[in-house]
Amino acid sequence: MTDDVLSELALLRDLGYTHLDLRVSVPLPAVVETAEAVDEDPWIALSAAAHECTRCRLAGTRTNVVFGVGNRNADLMFVGEAPGRDEDLKGEPFVGRAGQLLTDIIKAMKLTRDDVYIANVIKCRPPENRNPEPDELDACRPYIRQQVDLIRPKVIVALGRFGLQSLTGKSYGITAVRGQWLEYNGIKLMPTYHPAYLLRNPAGKKDVWLDMKKVMAELGIAV
Ligand code: SF4
Repeated sequence: MTDDVLSELALLRDLGYTHLDLRVSVPLPAVVETAEAVDEDPWIALSAAAHECTRCRLAGTRTNVVFGVGNRNADLMFVGEAPGRDEDLKGEPFVGRAGQLLTDIIKAMKLTRDDVYIANVIKCRPPENRNPEPDELDACRPYIRQQVDLIRPKVIVALGRFGLQSLTGKSYGITAVRGQWLEYNGIKLMPTYHPAYLLRNPAGKKDVWLDMKKVMAELGIAV
């Protein structure tokens, strides 16, 4: 087992997966592949761990943990940055004005929110909607990675720079790579602008639509 895998398993154990045996050589997602864990729904375990999480300082200021919503068998997953005020109050990602714009984008793709899975890389609202700190992104990263591992979508759309950087571990600038296919763990990854950015810069909508047309083509959806 590689150091990376051991490290990831240790993080999972910290998150509450007490059945994990680090001596057992199993690939990720270990939580659904170890015999000891098959009687435990990995989604329930992961969600429970997030809702009790105190791995970073954002636990002290959140109203609700914003875990993620949608179809756990989705072909398409949207990964955003962090909850805002509306999301913190409701406990659901993308429910404010930016959320409505994301819903409109999904509809334009001939899908519904129930067809896709939506989550952020940070599960608790940063105070005053400030940018997440690097240590907060590090602390929260195991949750989004496990969500991706459990869903195994055909395509991930990374909305904004923090979603992209947290998933890939690389310091991409969103403007530089927007619209270009990248890869995360063998899954096609399309970076594009965050809907909140589009509210401030509506001219970017045409770029996002170009990016979503590439995603639709990859998923076999007629444009
Ligand atoms: S932001 Fe993530 S790591 Fe920090 S307390 Fe919330 S769930 Fe835990």
